[in-house]
Amino acid sequence: MKYCRFQLDSQAHYGLVESVAGKDEITRLLLRPPEQMGGDIEDLPTKRMDRLPFAEARLLAPVRPSKIVCVGRNYREHAAELGNEVPAEPLIFFKPPSSLLAPEQQIRRPKLSQRVDYEGELAVVVGRKCYKAGPDEDVRPYILGYSCLNDVTARDLQKSDGQWTRAKGFDTFCPVGPLVTDEIDPWAGVSVETRVNGETRQQGNTRDFIFPLEVVVRHITQVMTLFPGDLIATGTPKGVGPVVAGEVIEVSVEGVGTLRNPVVDEQ
Ligand code: MG
Repeated sequence: MKYCRFQLDSQAHYGLVESVAGKDEITRLLLRPPEQMGGDIEDLPTKRMDRLPFAEARLLAPVRPSKIVCVGRNYREHAAELGNEVPAEPLIFFKPPSSLLAPEQQIRRPKLSQRVDYEGELAVVVGRKCYKAGPDEDVRPYILGYSCLNDVTARDLQKSDGQWTRAKGFDTFCPVGPLVTDEIDPWAGVSVETRVNGETRQQGNTRDFIFPLEVVVRHITQVMTLFPGDLIATGTPKGVGPVVAGEVIEVSVEGVGTLRNPVVDEQ
């Protein structure tokens, strides 16, 4: 199942996304947020609507998380490119929900930073409350689906601050979308790619995670409860780099689609 959030008649809706004659369309309205179905999205009530081409929809961020938990350095070659050791256990940090950004909306380079980087990542959407997942527990039932996420980072502030809250937390620093799907399998490997103005900058695959998703979910939930709708950003492959105003960043996850956002300078 694929779904999105979008604006129609100045209201936010969830919509079912289906391929019709080879083109994605929003075909039905979902009457409840899928993350509030306790994992039973087959029972999700829907309503008829006039079909809308997905490409023409005014998309919103597809989730409304209580928190966004991110994994740093989850690909060997990315840890190396920033001169970091491969960590012994997952390194986690937060982005605030206020940093969320919809597809096509502008990422603002803040005046406080001289270097803003893209980080294309696979995002996990939590579907069931999870606390202290067991060592042999299958974490898949807790996962509702997957999306694309750009973990936009003020690299200079990340280095100077020590704590990453400012570097990772500016408004507009967490684009997510364009939809959520449960039709991919990160364990089997899906490609994660980032392009700037159409030029490929990052090309990774989730089969190269240092810490697979069961380790990440277990690690996070020893500390905090994951709630339905929460997001996990699973780390970025090698090839991070800066962007300037006027550039367009695209993050593509195989089987999900492309998250596209232009960059502007803060006025
Ligand atoms: Mg990251």
